[in-house]
Amino acid sequence: MAHPILSPVALSPSNRAPEPAEPEAVVLTCGCLPEPEALLGRPPGTLIVHQAGGLWLDASALATVGYGRAFLGLTEILVIGHAGCRLADSRCDEPGRVAAELAAMIGAGPGEVVALVSDGRGVALDGAIAIDG
Ligand SMILES: [Zn+2]
Repeated sequence: MAHPILSPVALSPSNRAPEPAEPEAVVLTCGCLPEPEALLGRPPGTLIVHQAGGLWLDASALATVGYGRAFLGLTEILVIGHAGCRLADSRCDEPGRVAAELAAMIGAGPGEVVALVSDGRGVALDGAIAIDG
């Protein structure tokens, strides 16, 4: 029986996910926030995004960062938090701490990981934090 939403496609190299034309940064953020490109005023496809609940540095988040750094050569990683997360055990209200932990985990260079906060309409630096690796 066919899936009501998905249509079957043949798997081939041409079905691979397209790479962004000109990726600029890796973004880690919470699923509570709208699309990161819109928050940052960037065109669609210019960010490598990991958007999941709670701003946790799990294996998936680290794999996304690794992909952006190793395969795309990106040196800007943005950690976007926000206030009032509806998820239990969220770390969304401490993006500076998450960014510092990420920088230590990946051996980031100076300024490579930046913590931002969002109000759902835009972003601002979280205490002007620039993490030194
Ligand atoms: Zn959140």
